[in-house]
Amino acid sequence: MQSQHHDWVSPPGLDPEEAAERLLRDLDTGPEGLSSSEAERRLLQYGLNELRRRTGPQWPKALIRQLTHPLALLLWLAAGLLVIVGSHVVATAVVLIIMLNAAFSFVQELQAERAVEALAKYLPQKAKVERDGAVSEVDASHIVPGDIVVLEEGDRVAADIRLLAGAVEVDMSALTGESVPALRSAAMVDVNVPLLAAHDLVFSGTNCTGGHARGLAFATGMGTEIGRIAALSERVKSEPSPLERQVRRAAWLIAAVSVMLGLSFIPVATLVAHLTLINSLIFAAGLLAGMVPEGLLPVITLALAVAVRDLAGRGALVKRLSAVETLGSTDVICTDKTGTLTQNRMTPVAVWTTAGQIDLDPERSDTLGGAPQWPSPVGSLGRIAADCNNARLDDAAGATGDPTEVAVLTAARILGAETDSATREANRRWQFHFDPELKLMSTIDRSEDGSPVVHTKGAPEALLTRCSHILDADGQPLPLDSLERRQVDGAVDDLAAQGLRVLGFAQRQLPAKKRPPHRRASAEQDLCFVGLIAMLDPPRPGVIEAVAKCQTAGIRIIVITGDHPLTAAATAERIGITGPHPKVVAAEDFEQLEDRQLATLIRSCPEIIFARASPEAKLHIAEALRHDGHVVAMTGDGVNDAPALRRADIGVAMGLSGTDVAREAATMVLTDDDFGSIVTAIEAGRRIYDNVRKFIVYIFAHAVPEVVPFLLFALSGGVIPMPLTIMQILAFDVGSETFPALSLSREPAEPGIMQRAPRPRDEGVIRLPMLLRAWIFLGLMVAGLAAAGYFWVLLRAGWRPGTSIDVGSPLHHAYRQATTMTLLGMITGQIGTAFAVRTQRTSLWSVGVFSNRYLLAGIAAELALAAVFVYLPVFQSLLGTEAPAPSDLLILLPFPFIVWGADELRRYLLRRWSKRHPRGDVRPLVGDLRP
Ligand code: ATP
Repeated sequence: MQSQHHDWVSPPGLDPEEAAERLLRDLDTGPEGLSSSEAERRLLQYGLNELRRRTGPQWPKALIRQLTHPLALLLWLAAGLLVIVGSHVVATAVVLIIMLNAAFSFVQELQAERAVEALAKYLPQKAKVERDGAVSEVDASHIVPGDIVVLEEGDRVAADIRLLAGAVEVDMSALTGESVPALRSAAMVDVNVPLLAAHDLVFSGTNCTGGHARGLAFATGMGTEIGRIAALSERVKSEPSPLERQVRRAAWLIAAVSVMLGLSFIPVATLVAHLTLINSLIFAAGLLAGMVPEGLLPVITLALAVAVRDLAGRGALVKRLSAVETLGSTDVICTDKTGTLTQNRMTPVAVWTTAGQIDLDPERSDTLGGAPQWPSPVGSLGRIAADCNNARLDDAAGATGDPTEVAVLTAARILGAETDSATREANRRWQFHFDPELKLMSTIDRSEDGSPVVHTKGAPEALLTRCSHILDADGQPLPLDSLERRQVDGAVDDLAAQGLRVLGFAQRQLPAKKRPPHRRASAEQDLCFVGLIAMLDPPRPGVIEAVAKCQTAGIRIIVITGDHPLTAAATAERIGITGPHPKVVAAEDFEQLEDRQLATLIRSCPEIIFARASPEAKLHIAEALRHDGHVVAMTGDGVNDAPALRRADIGVAMGLSGTDVAREAATMVLTDDDFGSIVTAIEAGRRIYDNVRKFIVYIFAHAVPEVVPFLLFALSGGVIPMPLTIMQILAFDVGSETFPALSLSREPAEPGIMQRAPRPRDEGVIRLPMLLRAWIFLGLMVAGLAAAGYFWVLLRAGWRPGTSIDVGSPLHHAYRQATTMTLLGMITGQIGTAFAVRTQRTSLWSVGVFSNRYLLAGIAAELALAAVFVYLPVFQSLLGTEAPAPSDLLILLPFPFIVWGADELRRYLLRRWSKRHPRGDVRPLVGDLRP
């Protein structure tokens, strides 16, 4: 990257507040912007327009943090205690565990961070610059000082810019914390004021919330104000998610239990089992080290990060790790229609005037052959459609512009109107942009006889209220009375009920001599209604399946659209969101509703659609739903949608069609604008949450076999020799915990994951049935198997209660083999546990026994490590292991299958049980009836 070679990325000695002409000269920029070759040269000179971290390497700090987090400190304490009592070997082992864990967690955090950082490449910021005399869209990182930049509503400002023409409103909160939009205009030149207060400057990192302007970039990259503040000099601190907080709490709980267990072990071991105080202290400290689940949190962070990276590749960019878990409990999706449910690729299919309806052939977009003689209002309709339009049909890249306008222009061409953009622009005197609140757009154009004429298009009912006349079949304006109004309404309803998007068109001749009105309200009044154009916007491929998935998954879909109620209802029905008679709330009904009524309405109507809705309506709906305890995903793409996107649990912005402002406010950006990607993300959220639960069960399960041997020893009053040495417990901890646990986060989704109700918002990640399964069922079983292996070897060697197994005694060799059997029994048992926890409810066959290759690799690593522990002389003397006889090893072979098989049986019985008790009104104890 070039930028890394430059520390100073704006031309030195430049005063952005000097006169515009001088600034242009200083930056050596002509009226047509830079040439492409000059821009390339400057890119090399000044570097990429990017913010970089200024600080040096962060890793020593991160590593130290891993070594000093509270759970690690607890282990340090244990190690210290061990040194004091003189058990240096165990102390060293504990320190080794701390180190290994720190390194492991560190690597995982780093990986997680990398995964999140890599997201930027999926959604590069774009900017419009003027180069070689033409405006084009470039990667914002390629803007150089001297570029002429065009700013529009919804854009994120990509460099520090001096405005040259026009005015914009900017949200400067990223720089000043002040969120009230500030007006910035080329006409308000300020001198000698602080840079940030100058009215003719806008700054990188702020957002343009309205207006239109052209400006000169005078600083880029680290040379910008935001670069100077070095907002990125610190790593972005991520808030711990509710999941992480819960898991941290659970880890502490286990730590506390381990400390208590360790402390209570000391008196029992000394008084009842007659162990020396020092030895029991060593055991207590070792037990503590073995049980503390210090690796739990980083595993979860990494699991979330991996999910985020995965999703980015599948069309959904999630901006916060914690959003993944929110996605898993999402139960309402509020979605707009155009472009999300539909393709936003429109074809005109019919035109309507008082002379009747003409159906257009959607396959043909050229002028109809033979130039039929249209009735006169149709010719006028074609002209309005061509003039009140900003799309282009014949660009090198094909048709460009807003898809609605492309369709309108196509219709104009079919109707024989002149659609050349140059002619259109030459004739245009004024333009009132499309306003989503008014749902109208108007232009004032020069007509053939040279007099100005207002051309307006928009939502038919919005247009009709501004019309006083209507063009009759002969092309004569008639007063628009209620009869004609009903006729137009009837035509609109007919077309809209077929799911078509209908736009109305009107005009008004202005007197030739007078100046045309520049106020919108005075232009858009007293119009003469001319006709309608209806267009078809087919559903996106795959959206019907995605909607069906939501339905089985208990996720409600509420369509909130700016379009006509009937169009919305027909589309919703076609896609399967609603049946034939949904409740459709239009703008005028919505305004009558108070918040409480709105909430009641949403609750009582399972099928509801909001049509002609404003961005403000979205905000109210999000609030009402959240108030009712729902977890809401809400889509939006305009500047005005930002508050609703922030208010929803998951704000969803569009990557292709949305504004930068909406993308900023959103939690998730759909890089393909596809409704299906929201559903994919929810599914991933559910899967990750399940997987987190899986490895929590796994990690919790492995504590029981660690404790049981000590209990056997202590409770038998020392009659049963200690079945496991303290070093073996630590070896088990290192060898069996991390790898399989990590691989569980990669588990594929269980079948049926989208056939169950969403997880309630307030449900904890750790639930009682999980604990019972981990501790009582799996944990005890593994402990029992390990103990069986131990006693088998010991008893066969001739041991009876009371026989000495001390060093030098004839049974000592067999005792070492027996403890090794305990260790191996625990390891093989945990392998069974790993397979068992892979599914929560279904049988393992349904996800495939070998479908998680990470787990297979983890188990292979675990077994290799076990062999090292048992056969390598160094480890034999360190851990007190001794190779068991090959025939004894055979006993271990069925262990994994016993544990896994028993859990398969348990799950099978559970499934049968819940089939018989579909409401789950009686719950068996060691099992979760809910999936
Ligand atoms: P959604 O909210 O589902 O995306 P939408 O695209 O219909 O639906 P808006 O873009 O807010 O929502 O448009 C609202 C209405 O304004 C449209 O239904 C249409 O009648 C009208 N409209 C849309 N685009 C234009 C335009 N370029 N010129 C004039 N009127 C338009």
